[in-house]
Amino acid sequence: MPPKNRFAELLPEITAWRRDFHENPELLFEVHRTAAKVADLLRSFGCDEVVEGIGRTGVVGVIKGRSDTSGRVVGLRADMDALPITEQTGLDYASKVPGKMHACGHDGHTAMLLGAARYLAETRNFDGTAVVIFQPAEEGGGGGREMVQDGMMDRFGIQEVYGMHNMPGIPVGHFAIRPGAMMAAADQFDIVVTGKGGHAAKPHDCVDTTVVAAHIIVAAQTIASRTVDPLKQVVVSICTVQTDSTAHNVIPQVVKMKGTVRTMDAAVQDQVEQRLKEIVEGTALALGARAELHYQRGYPVTVNAAENTAFAAEVARAVSGKVDTDTAPLMGAEDFSFMLNERPGAYIFLGNGDTAMVHHPAYNFDDSAIPFGSSWYAGMVESRMPAA
Ligand SMILES: [Zn+2]
Ligand SMILES: [Zn+2]
Repeated sequence: MPPKNRFAELLPEITAWRRDFHENPELLFEVHRTAAKVADLLRSFGCDEVVEGIGRTGVVGVIKGRSDTSGRVVGLRADMDALPITEQTGLDYASKVPGKMHACGHDGHTAMLLGAARYLAETRNFDGTAVVIFQPAEEGGGGGREMVQDGMMDRFGIQEVYGMHNMPGIPVGHFAIRPGAMMAAADQFDIVVTGKGGHAAKPHDCVDTTVVAAHIIVAAQTIASRTVDPLKQVVVSICTVQTDSTAHNVIPQVVKMKGTVRTMDAAVQDQVEQRLKEIVEGTALALGARAELHYQRGYPVTVNAAENTAFAAEVARAVSGKVDTDTAPLMGAEDFSFMLNERPGAYIFLGNGDTAMVHHPAYNFDDSAIPFGSSWYAGMVESRMPAA
């Protein structure tokens, strides 16, 4: 039976897992209940190996095909964590935990990959090894990085790796992908400007940090407009400005700012960090103050390898017939990038229809997308390692 028909049969069961995860959301690395349920289910499917505690709370399952003359090992990855949002959908399976919600659809990703694991373990209709990867802490904790640093790729011999994310605004059953940069690198920075506070009526006796900060904010916008090649994507946003004065008539001693940088290639990322440092320190110096930049690298660019992307698109086409192979990249970031930095592979969007955007309290994963998502995961294994 082709995967899609089998997943139509399995849909009620996969949906029940999904809604159970949805009712019981967990954050970052604290996905203990979710990970335990994933591991239990993988064991019940008859996976050849199930390992818990990879990258703290990650779970890995190994499924061997009917033969292994190819010697190939294909990794499939889903994320398990929720967001610190209070759900406002009013659904009967809404989150039971105030302040926590599966608002990015990772409950759906986990359920769809479990469905694929169940199918692959029961059919084994491939020549090689499938490794299913369930990671914690995609939403800011770097769970993908932790699993990689834990030696996952070598330990399980993973040669290539594939990930998927649901996407509101794309019709259910449609896929979207592109070769090259798919999601941005996300860095964050803190700026501390130090001057000389004092009476607002005596600015000549002070070094006004507010004015220095204002010049830095404006100058930072020249990075996108004057420094970086206009054909390259870059975002520099300063999002928090805080002074140590709360009065109308006190010039602050210190101003602190926080912001984020989004880039689509590593060279631009280096360029922005360097330029921001020059602007922050140079502007402060010119105006008689001191300023420091603390720049923190976050998730790297998510880069789809060309050959693997073509393959992922082909499987998606076989599953649904509806694939956009030139979708626009997003300036959001994704920590699947750490796995793609280690092994070639691809990351694909699966349509979630006309719902609220991910990270919104009214967002809802569309369960009718499950047969498409599970079929794509399973199809990647069967097509990448065809039965001998
Ligand atoms: Zn998210
Ligand atoms: Zn997400």
